[in-house]
Amino acid sequence: HQDEDKLQEYMDELEFLAFTAGATVDRRFTQKLTQPDSKTFIGSGKAQEIKEYVKEHAIGTVIFDDELSPSQLKNLEREMEVKILDRTNLILDIFAQRATTSYARTQVELAQYQYLLPRLTRMWTHLERQKGGIGMRGPGETEIETDRRIIRDRISLLKDKLKTIDKQMATQRNNRGKVVRAALVGYTNVGKSTLMNALSKSEVFAENKLFATLDTTVRKVVIGNLPFLLTDTVGFIRKLPTQLVESFKSTLDEVREADLLIHVVDISHESFEDHIDSVNQILMEINAHQKPMIMVFNKIDDFSYQKKDEDDLTPSTRKNISLEEWKNTWMAKSKYPTVFISALTKENFPEMKKLIYDEVMKIHISRFPYND
Ligand code: GDP
Repeated sequence: HQDEDKLQEYMDELEFLAFTAGATVDRRFTQKLTQPDSKTFIGSGKAQEIKEYVKEHAIGTVIFDDELSPSQLKNLEREMEVKILDRTNLILDIFAQRATTSYARTQVELAQYQYLLPRLTRMWTHLERQKGGIGMRGPGETEIETDRRIIRDRISLLKDKLKTIDKQMATQRNNRGKVVRAALVGYTNVGKSTLMNALSKSEVFAENKLFATLDTTVRKVVIGNLPFLLTDTVGFIRKLPTQLVESFKSTLDEVREADLLIHVVDISHESFEDHIDSVNQILMEINAHQKPMIMVFNKIDDFSYQKKDEDDLTPSTRKNISLEEWKNTWMAKSKYPTVFISALTKENFPEMKKLIYDEVMKIHISRFPYND
């Protein structure tokens, strides 16, 4: 990481992820390297420093913000004598904790095995090497092969299971007919579930943790006599493990097959511009970036950051900004229809509803051109 502010933001996010997974963070370590060490990711001096700290304070786990290669993970665990988690593993753990439906559980289990498979190999290779050259083809080898085979079988079983559910879900989506479908997309914790609740008057789980939403929820919403379907999707996040992007296919299909995307942004978050980029990146990856979209800048009631300079309207300097002022920022000048709201206080809801109504109506009319 080059930029000091960015670095702290990334560490904040990682700490929030750790908190969501149920851990409390004792201390942060950062290091500037031109590139990660291929064997241990961090330098050996830093590894030593962390090792001593971990010993002295009886720390249980060290968490890295990046995905470590299987060998880096193994080397670090051996060197620092402590349990190591990388970002991918942490995110998978959170998903595993929060998966409620059998579909979500199957997806997470698949992603976990895919993560485990190469790491299992290296773990055993390292044990083998310790045993020395002779007898390399001993019982250890058989065990690895057995374990790997069990995991591979399990992976293909889970894939089959997902395929079946995917088909069922596709049929369900087809059966929804020609009703316009809108999907809420956005970085994790921006307020999608809260907005869903406010629009559909249903009760969707919302809390201040990352990934409160694992499964998609579809609700019927009516604005000014115009009914449409609204889907709440899993929150996007920077560096979402690729295993998850792949395995959450059906969740993302809801986005891919939506007629309209409602991109929710948490404007009170200091990295909200990065969040927008991450979401757009994922939309591009799943080929959903050319759909009609509405930008909803949420949490305008939340002014948790200090204003440094009177004329400065950069993300970290919002305080007592009026709706009119928001409408003069660069955010209002995007190529998409844009609105500033608070899902919590429902400030500016009429304008948002009007905007959604107009966009849904456009799609509706294009679909039923001869009705009035
Ligand atoms: P999701 O992960 O995008 O579905 O986000 P949630 O709907 O679960 O909301 C995450 C957190 O942000 C919760 O604690 C909400 O109460 C809070 N939140 C949502 N909308 C607003 C808002 O407009 N203002 C404020 N201050 N908090 C909000």
